Amino acid sequence: MRIGFGYDSHRFDPSRPLILGGIRIPAASGLAGHSDADAVAHAIIDALLGAAAAGDIGTHFPPDDPRWKDADSMHLLEQAVRVLGGRDYRVVNVDVTVVCERPRIGSHARAMQERLAKAMGLRATQVSIKAKTNEGLGWIGAAEGLAACAVALIEEGGAADGAGGGPPGPGRTLAG
Ligand SMILES: [Zn+2]
Repeated sequence: MRIGFGYDSHRFDPSRPLILGGIRIPAASGLAGHSDADAVAHAIIDALLGAAAAGDIGTHFPPDDPRWKDADSMHLLEQAVRVLGGRDYRVVNVDVTVVCERPRIGSHARAMQERLAKAMGLRATQVSIKAKTNEGLGWIGAAEGLAACAVALIEEGGAADGAGGGPPGPGRTLAG
């Protein structure tokens, strides 16, 4: 068993839709970023890669690479799970806290859990999304942006359940 931690933050950008955990959330403002700026997915990706000591989101998906412009972060998450599968790791569970003053995220947690679980080839019960405000404090409290923190537990033994229904990647095993 290995544990990993991930953190991400993005500034609000009113010209973009708000996408968190693969779900489009009604809001006055989305998030600035090279990809779809899904901070929840990005925090999870860093937690997964960190658990495997496999670098971080920037090394696998460089922000100056045009391939990732406006990228769907669910695809990046699927690829991160394949990276783990290639190293004979599978995901045990993921736990996320989103810190966001507005909009309120909690009512979307269930949909995010299900979407994220699908991308990682997990059951929804293996993914936890918790949402809180920053009690009005600092840049999050001023609604300049939001942040997400994630921890992930992985274990050796192969990616038995696959990664979100995509084709098996090279090096993935079906054992375990
Ligand atoms: Zn990000």
